[in-house]
Amino acid sequence: MKLQHPLISGNKAQEEVRRSHSLLRAILESSPDGIIAVGNDGELIAVNQRFLEMWGISKVMASGTEKLLMLSDRLKEPEAFMQLVKEWSQEVEATGNGILELKDGRIIELYSEPQRADGEILGRVWRFRHIANKARTEELLQLTQLAIDSNAYAAFWLTEDGKLFYANEAACKSLGYDRSVLLSMTIHDIEPDMSPETWVWHWQEVKLRGSFSLETRYRRADGSLFPVEVTVNPIEFKGKQYNCVLAREITPARQTEIALRQQGERERLVGAIAAKIRQSLDLEEILQTTVDEVRQLLQTDRVLIFRFEADWSGVVTQESVARGWKSILGRGIYDPCFEQSYVRPYREGRVKAIEDIDTANLDKCHRDLLWECQVKANLVVPIVQNAEALSRESLLASSPQTKSANPAAENQIKALTQTRTLWGLLIAHHCSRTRQWQDWEIQLLEQLATHVAIAIKQSTLFEQLEIANQELELIAISDSLTKLANRRRFDQYIDIEWRRAMRQQSWLGLILCDIDYFKLYNDTYGHQAGDACLQKVAEAIDRAVRRPGDLVARYGGEEFAIVLPNTDMAGAMRVAEEIRVRVRGLGIPHSASKIGDIVTLSLGITATFPSPYKSISKFIGLADVALYKAKKEGRDRSIQTRG
Ligand code: GH3
Ligand code: MG
Ligand code: MG
Repeated sequence: MKLQHPLISGNKAQEEVRRSHSLLRAILESSPDGIIAVGNDGELIAVNQRFLEMWGISKVMASGTEKLLMLSDRLKEPEAFMQLVKEWSQEVEATGNGILELKDGRIIELYSEPQRADGEILGRVWRFRHIANKARTEELLQLTQLAIDSNAYAAFWLTEDGKLFYANEAACKSLGYDRSVLLSMTIHDIEPDMSPETWVWHWQEVKLRGSFSLETRYRRADGSLFPVEVTVNPIEFKGKQYNCVLAREITPARQTEIALRQQGERERLVGAIAAKIRQSLDLEEILQTTVDEVRQLLQTDRVLIFRFEADWSGVVTQESVARGWKSILGRGIYDPCFEQSYVRPYREGRVKAIEDIDTANLDKCHRDLLWECQVKANLVVPIVQNAEALSRESLLASSPQTKSANPAAENQIKALTQTRTLWGLLIAHHCSRTRQWQDWEIQLLEQLATHVAIAIKQSTLFEQLEIANQELELIAISDSLTKLANRRRFDQYIDIEWRRAMRQQSWLGLILCDIDYFKLYNDTYGHQAGDACLQKVAEAIDRAVRRPGDLVARYGGEEFAIVLPNTDMAGAMRVAEEIRVRVRGLGIPHSASKIGDIVTLSLGITATFPSPYKSISKFIGLADVALYKAKKEGRDRSIQTRG
């Protein structure tokens, strides 16, 4: 607007200009906005202190437009701002505003308009206004609220006492309540499976596990129930805890999708475990994988394998347990009524699924045990040996004659089921709440129990095979009459020890001994007595030899060989004498002996430092020579020979 003062002139006019100038300055400085005015040619016309403070500038040295362009380096999106400055500087008529976001996180609103005098545009005024944080937060909050309210998911917040603190539109709609009614309700009113006691566990679980998903049922205002998928999140706000719940109704289409997914998962799991069973003979590993995977798939709190002892007591041998629940691994459990009431049905493959142990009509001791283990619902599947093709159904199905309820068929089933052994149980525990076990879950556990039974059988067979192999190995290297090492073992052993002594530069001693006049013994007392004599002599020799590395072998008919690692001639001689004295000490009568009336031994001894220039056969030959000498010199003696 143009001021019309035709009578003002001279000093007065100057005075007036000064006054309006200072008024303008005062207005400019009192504005909460940062203001900068730029002339058409870009020069700086005016700037206020607030502008300098806002942008952290001490003085405007450059031209106005340049100064504006220089501000862009503080912005998150500098190009957009530079573009704006350029456009508006050229488009003199343009008026506009925008939001600038600074790198330091501040938000500034920008207004720009032409500066006019008498209709003529002299330049442009730029105003910058800090958006107060509070206003911004409120704006964001409104936006979030809007997002939650218009969300297709039902969303509500619960306080620790289970009360609804907030509910969105979708929640009100799907449950069929007005918001005011809904906000006066608790979780127990809308989720029938959530008892107040379960809620306490659930609250803890959410706190411990953070965000997780589960499936449950909600009740509408009209009393009808519908299945929902729920994601829960623990939230802490101003020191108070909340559960933020997002729920989605499980539509028939979604139900099919879930069923397909579960079927896929189930097949994958059974496949993985079956593969593991084929690959591994490590039973512990197989069982541990089973419990871990089952727990994950069933999203349950504890899965375990329980193994029976002969008296139907048992031990928890494997366990997978969720955080926050008690471990019962290694726990021994004995239920005196088990044999009478449970063994038969379990052996026949019966499954036990309990939705709520409090209402399941269990024996008190059984229920107490489950309570103590924090169990709310459980699913028990027997692990039965020989169960592969022996289920009652498969028996009936496989044989048409047995289909009718004829007693012979029943007897056949009875006989077959009795050959099955109840090895143990595969058990799923749900601790946080009661649980209605689904058919697929039961089937899954049954399938796995069958695989586990195969694994157990396989590993038992393998164990037996290993034992048999070990026995075979032992047979292959031992003498059946005396139980000493046989000649084969002697040959292997002396070879090993020869080479070891060579490496370690140590002595190796050898004794060969032979029973004196043994032919005559046999002739006098018979072959059986001869065998018995050989056994006693063998035992006596074995006792005389003490070091773990020493080996006593039956070398031939009535000849024995003793390999003595780390033993020099004197040492070997001492052992030989110990043997000779012990055999004499047996006092086995030998009336036909030409040197006395008891069984005696002649012994040939040698010892050497093995080297590549010596041979084992020569070494043995030396002992043989010594033995020959002992025989020749009158028997019942030890003679040594050096190489
Ligand atoms: P020497 O003092 O010279 O050794 O006389 P000897 O009779 O012991 O020697 P000889 O080699 O002539 O006889 C060995 C006998 O040992 C022959 C056989 O009747 C007996 N003998 C060998 N092996 C067995 C066996 O396994 N059982 C029994 N009962 N006798 C055996
Ligand atoms: Mg002989
Ligand atoms: Mg002999």
